[in-house]
Amino acid sequence: MSVLIYAEGFEGKIKKSSLEALAYGAALASKLNTSAIALATGTFQASELSALGKYGASKVLHVSDQRMDETPVAAIASAIAAAANAGAAQVVIMPKSALTDSASSKVAVKLKAGVVNNVVELPDLTSGFKVKRAIYTGKAFAVTEINTPIKVLLLRKNAMNAIANGNDCPVEAFQPSFEATDFGLKRLKVEKAEGEILLPEAEIVVSGGRGLKGPENWHLIESLAKALHAGTGCSKPVSDMDWRPHHEHVGQTGVKVSPNLYIAVGISGAIQHLAGVNSSKVIVVINKDPEAPFFKAADYGVVGDAFDVLPQLTEAVKALN
Ligand SMILES: Cc1cc2nc3c(=O)[nH]c(=O)nc-3n(C[C@H](O)[C@H](O)[C@H](O)COP(=O)(O)OP(=O)(O)OC[C@H]3O[C@@H](n4cnc5c(N)ncnc54)[C@H](O)[C@@H]3O)c2cc1C
Repeated sequence: MSVLIYAEGFEGKIKKSSLEALAYGAALASKLNTSAIALATGTFQASELSALGKYGASKVLHVSDQRMDETPVAAIASAIAAAANAGAAQVVIMPKSALTDSASSKVAVKLKAGVVNNVVELPDLTSGFKVKRAIYTGKAFAVTEINTPIKVLLLRKNAMNAIANGNDCPVEAFQPSFEATDFGLKRLKVEKAEGEILLPEAEIVVSGGRGLKGPENWHLIESLAKALHAGTGCSKPVSDMDWRPHHEHVGQTGVKVSPNLYIAVGISGAIQHLAGVNSSKVIVVINKDPEAPFFKAADYGVVGDAFDVLPQLTEAVKALN
């Protein structure tokens, strides 16, 4: 018996959301009195994988086949299912992502498992196996019972703290058998903005809206972002008006972010914008209108003019560095 955690990576680095999934899997394994085993696919340095022990993995299975770097979804699903069978996994945990949204259903079919997406808490095991998940873009929660012998859970970003307080663990080569169709789909290339912090992975995001009045004022957002080592985002109208590039537009129709800190400046807080930010851990809103809807979703709010508040905040952050 075991709990299997899929440790998704990007360009040789294990993602932060995978470390959270590991911490979750380790906590669940301890509840179930069993061990947490991690699975990684593709090219990684051995030290990157052994370090997963610090987050609770007792060992890491590594499918080093280079074809896995092209993220063939079906092959990754086959590897996860094979590792689950090899370790008699009761529960398979994956960090929620575009890849696992697609792979998890294939894994569930292969393992005849019930699958629950967007999980926010450890399951309630007092009677059966009940999981709480976020629904309606995080505006509500649902509790779902899974009755199948094997369960597949996709963990929402920021649902668990990833703390490195253990030791390195062994890494074992794992070679599942694949079918030719497993490699029917592969990623050919990735185009990303160079030299910038990738928004979906950013720990801190400073985002500006129409309240900034024009692109000539964006240095205020950029200065605060630089002082905080943060990524920069914006609302949709801002990118529609070409004040900022489209890849910075956050929301329902743009990038979904899940940083530890999201600072929204001069953004009203329309539901379509909130849909992209509501898995942020802490939200700070700066707006001159005390009735701006964003304040309802904020952990901290500053009612004030962005042109006064931003320079002062930036200087205060610089003074802390
Ligand atoms: C189908 C659909 C999809 C959409 N998808 C998205 C999406 O993905 N992302 C998105 O962002 N929007 C999306 N929208 C648009 C969304 O509904 C809002 O219109 C948009 O988010 C508003 O942008 P904003 O807050 O920057 O501008 P506004 O609504 O104009 O708000 C500007 C805010 O700035 C404040 N302000 C003004 N001056 C200052 C100042 N000097 N200092 C401080 N505050 C100031 C104002 O009080 C106000 O709250 C979508 C809309 C539709 C219909």
